[in-house]
Amino acid sequence: MFKRKIRAHGSSQDFAEPASKASKEFLKVGNRIRISSKDEGRRISKSEKTSPVTTRIIKNLAIEIQPPAHKDLHEYVKKRIEGWKEITPDRQSRTPARSPELTPKQTSKPGHRRVVSDKISSIFKIRSVSRRNGNNSFQKNTPINSKNDRSLIEVNQSLLQERHTPTHLYENLNVSAGSFQEQEEEKEKLVSYISSYFGKHLDDPPTTLDFYKIGKMIGKGAFGKVLLGVHKLTGMNVAIKTIEKAQLRNEHAKRKVFQEVYILKKIRNKYVVKIFEVFESSKHFLIVMEYAGGGDLLQFVKQKGRLTENEARRIFGQIIEGAIEIHENGVLHRDFKLDNILLDSQYSCCKICDFGVSKLVKKGQIINEQCGTPAYLAPEIIVDRGYEGFWADMWSLGILAYAMLCGTVPFKAHSIPELNKLILTGKYNLPDYLSENAKDMIRSMLQLVPHNRIPLDSLLRHPWFRSSDETEEESVSPRFIGNIEPSREKRFKVDDFILEKVVACGFPKSFVLNSLNCNELNHATATYYLLHDAIH
Ligand code: ATP
Repeated sequence: MFKRKIRAHGSSQDFAEPASKASKEFLKVGNRIRISSKDEGRRISKSEKTSPVTTRIIKNLAIEIQPPAHKDLHEYVKKRIEGWKEITPDRQSRTPARSPELTPKQTSKPGHRRVVSDKISSIFKIRSVSRRNGNNSFQKNTPINSKNDRSLIEVNQSLLQERHTPTHLYENLNVSAGSFQEQEEEKEKLVSYISSYFGKHLDDPPTTLDFYKIGKMIGKGAFGKVLLGVHKLTGMNVAIKTIEKAQLRNEHAKRKVFQEVYILKKIRNKYVVKIFEVFESSKHFLIVMEYAGGGDLLQFVKQKGRLTENEARRIFGQIIEGAIEIHENGVLHRDFKLDNILLDSQYSCCKICDFGVSKLVKKGQIINEQCGTPAYLAPEIIVDRGYEGFWADMWSLGILAYAMLCGTVPFKAHSIPELNKLILTGKYNLPDYLSENAKDMIRSMLQLVPHNRIPLDSLLRHPWFRSSDETEEESVSPRFIGNIEPSREKRFKVDDFILEKVVACGFPKSFVLNSLNCNELNHATATYYLLHDAIH
């Protein structure tokens, strides 16, 4: 079994350096408290003591850190799995029944497994497949029956393109790729480093910048840059958020960053940006996330002026699917707005991001903090006499729906006090071009009295989601082609096929399984989830 300990994740040379206090805290939030085990791993000794600072941060965030108190790791894992089994039916029963149109059944199509296998092997052999073999056999044998099929084909086509242009990924990054052979060698080196590290240390090697190809800057946040990267083992694109260590000196900044990591780790949903792992370099903390290459929804709406109802319906349906999952995890987002919705490169899937001001709460809990973006603030936040956050999120989602459909926010003013006054009147204009169903849905969300707002889990049953305007023209600018699909996985089940691929990257099977079952973030689980995303 594997040694687990808190350690600094620097460059491959300096991994033995003692971790700083902030580093420990950062890595703990990402990976939960790690366990140390000396011998074969059967006996688990108690994890490192939590520092007072960590305890305070954790308390503030209501983070539940669970050092396994069990004597046996297997027993611990088994208990967790049993725990899921108990929890799952409950979650299911709380999920309202969806209309069949909104929850299309995923039917297994003939040749599906082969297509998946083709995609996986194209990831692994991206550059080893000869040009002569680059025909798209999937296209030849599988008829396009649905949007779902189409997006599968698009993914496959883009992978095939990479076969023809081996340096494609790296050109994208504005970094020199080296020859195809060099890239393969780099991957092979990494695989043998991982397996020999396991052989020597009975543990996973700390992730370093050497595990990724780092490319151009794709954004800038309050604490540092967001960079495009390539995960070397899978060749998949990722977004790497860099946070300067120097920026995390005050408690507030620390809390914001740790909270985002903790919440992203807690919520795994198709419509919420995924976190893959966290690590550090000498000057930065790095958060590896799913890459959303289509920009944000604000840019998308700006480009088009406003969205057609058909487009807005798909996008908003996905946002609501993601928001339901966020709330079911006891998290208030508190900053739903166009800027915080990212789109994937195919314009088929939305990703809710930026959990910097989010909060973990219990149902019915009254909170007092005023936070969010002024134009999206619910009246009860402005009134400042305590509010229930779930309804406040509902208001912000109402503003977001309005902004997509009208290309502007419903409440606008020259100063914050004026804006607040306007919001408190609850009066806004609904343009004539909106359908009656759209107007009704917006009204049902933008109610001054929080409890009069439509509950989030009933929203997808609103008639607007069932209507469709066939006469709407298709615009030339990027068009959103996604479907609203049920996004919540009922129960986590390891895919043996992907597991084998991760094992082929040098990670022992039991390590990958334990890490997945304990929801750990490390390079093995990052590899697993990246492959999972590539084929699902
Ligand atoms: P904060 O105020 O917490 O820093 P922010 O959204 O301004 O929030 P970041 O989360 O650091 O800052 O993101 C900065 C920009 O980087 C975003 O506006 C977005 O354009 C881009 N970005 C962030 N995450 C991703 C991602 N996963 N995929 C693609 N682009 C991203």
